[in-house]
Amino acid sequence: MADIHVSGLSKAYPLARGGERLALEDVDLRIDSGEFVCLLGPSGCGKTTLLNILAGLDRPDAGSVRVGDPDTATAVTSYVFQEPRLLPWKSVRANLRFVLDRADGADERIDYWLERVGLAGRGNDYPRQLSIGQRQRVAVARALLIEPDVLFMDEPFSALDELTASRMREELLGLWQELGCTVVFVTHNPMEAAFLADRIAIMSPGPGRIVREYRVSEALPRPRDADDARLWEVSRNVVSVLKGRSSGQRA
Ligand code: ADP
Ligand code: MG
Repeated sequence: MADIHVSGLSKAYPLARGGERLALEDVDLRIDSGEFVCLLGPSGCGKTTLLNILAGLDRPDAGSVRVGDPDTATAVTSYVFQEPRLLPWKSVRANLRFVLDRADGADERIDYWLERVGLAGRGNDYPRQLSIGQRQRVAVARALLIEPDVLFMDEPFSALDELTASRMREELLGLWQELGCTVVFVTHNPMEAAFLADRIAIMSPGPGRIVREYRVSEALPRPRDADDARLWEVSRNVVSVLKGRSSGQRA
């Protein structure tokens, strides 16, 4: 069990000239164990700030966050950043080994995950020998290698060409369905959110709040087809909420 419970979360950053800028204001969010939720909002609305707080990389000024089992509040979590963030002086294999506590069986696990992300046989390459898409595949393998309960992803495919990105979205859905982990996926791309999410939490421009939750699974059962015209419909609805023009659909 790894659900997420966020209540009354606020966060401000100090400004260089004094005072502060509110990045998040009174954010409430609940995510069920095994759910795939996209946080969608315009650039600067606080998506990364919220994700970092959920992942424990940053602290809120107010409010509470619980990730994981309600009794113990523990969960194994992983994070895929917008850039691969691999260690350039280590081989792909060594980058993956780096996140494992114990060496026993590491090579088999690494080979398994390299194959799962389409990089079989590339373990001895260095990051510079891989394309940006391949490097991001290594980052996904690194995140999944530790078998997380919760996977945080911050616009992980936004630097990739659309063809590569759409292939990786499909592969991610396959892995998620197999692993059963909870996914919190940040994006500014409504079509991407429509294709991936069970539910889209739509954020307002800064200071970020969750203005609407859109339950995609009702409109689009799985498995989804990236060419399904209903994706556009979901995307249009979400965009009109982003533009503040629609009553949308409340979860
Ligand atoms: P998003 O990921 O939605 O683009 P961010 O969470 O990165 O938004 O940023 C939200 C707001 O907080 C922005 O106004 C940004 O400039 C500000 N901000 C983010 N990180 C910092 C920081 N470390 N120091 C000061 N301001 C920050
Ligand atoms: Mg961001």
